[in-house]
Amino acid sequence: MSYAGSNPGPFDPSDPAAPFGPPQPRRSPLRRPLTVALAALASGALLGWLAFEALAGTGTGTGGDGGPDQGAGPAASSSTLRSPADGTTGDGEQGADGEQGADGKQGVGGSASAGPVSLKGKVVVIDPGHNTTNYEHTAAINRKVDIGTNWKECDTTGTSTNFGYSEAEFTLDVAHRLRTLLQQQGATVKLTQDGDRPYGPCVDERARIGNAAHADAVVSIHADGSAAGNRGFHVIMPGEVHEGAADTRAVVAPSKELGKLLAADFARTTGSSPSNYIGDGSGLVTRTDLGGLNLSTVPKVFIECGNMRDGKDAALLTSDAWHQKAAQGLADGITDFLNRSS
Ligand SMILES: [Zn+2]
Repeated sequence: MSYAGSNPGPFDPSDPAAPFGPPQPRRSPLRRPLTVALAALASGALLGWLAFEALAGTGTGTGGDGGPDQGAGPAASSSTLRSPADGTTGDGEQGADGEQGADGKQGVGGSASAGPVSLKGKVVVIDPGHNTTNYEHTAAINRKVDIGTNWKECDTTGTSTNFGYSEAEFTLDVAHRLRTLLQQQGATVKLTQDGDRPYGPCVDERARIGNAAHADAVVSIHADGSAAGNRGFHVIMPGEVHEGAADTRAVVAPSKELGKLLAADFARTTGSSPSNYIGDGSGLVTRTDLGGLNLSTVPKVFIECGNMRDGKDAALLTSDAWHQKAAQGLADGITDFLNRSS
């Protein structure tokens, strides 16, 4: 999706590429018919624009700010007008995907019912773990990068199910679904990679993308590669480090808050349990050895959504329907966090 490619409306007078130029000189008899025709067209378009503005102007700045549903097809034009009715539509769609999760969410928390602009002005960076073609660039991803406290590999290939479905495919699909859900609520969303580069980014760059975006929250999506029988999800939060370029002192507390909310919402929407092999049943783990966390200057957590090497977890991790539930849980957790911290 591209904000720049969106249709700004029926007529944008400020757009130099618009088909209506400035008023033509009236003295040229050759130009006069054209001028009249242009004037008629322009006034018609202006009326249309004014009508559009009147309809869209119930809020502020709703005309072309890169809001939700850009390029989403038939729904895009109606959702451009962010009326309360659109919120109903959006919630209904989410409810159909998330079933009990979305319903429970709206009934209890109320943040989702705030409508599609509840995250307007918020910046969320989604970090899809690994890269589907990292395995073709082993030398590049094995080179060490400075994470402040240590030197670690640029990136890793990630794990996969026993049947070859890769963690990188999983993380990117959930990232796309999460992006859509967050944009429907008005958030500005950036991915650290979108299948658009041969490898990486390296873990230090992944952190810096969130920092440079001044993200209000960053979530790095992963799935684990542990022994069969080990099941469930866990959220990894930054511990306090202050060494070299690593300084997490300001983000430990908000990241912990983000992590707790994410874990609760993820459990609710997916029905999955917190990990039975790490985190003492809390689904929460603190680490100080991950470059993606150590170098972050904005609230950030990782989530290991399940264990790809366990058959039962793998069945979930390869299910499109479950991916949607996972994305919904992440969206709800991020929404809770951003609404509480604003
Ligand atoms: Zn991973």
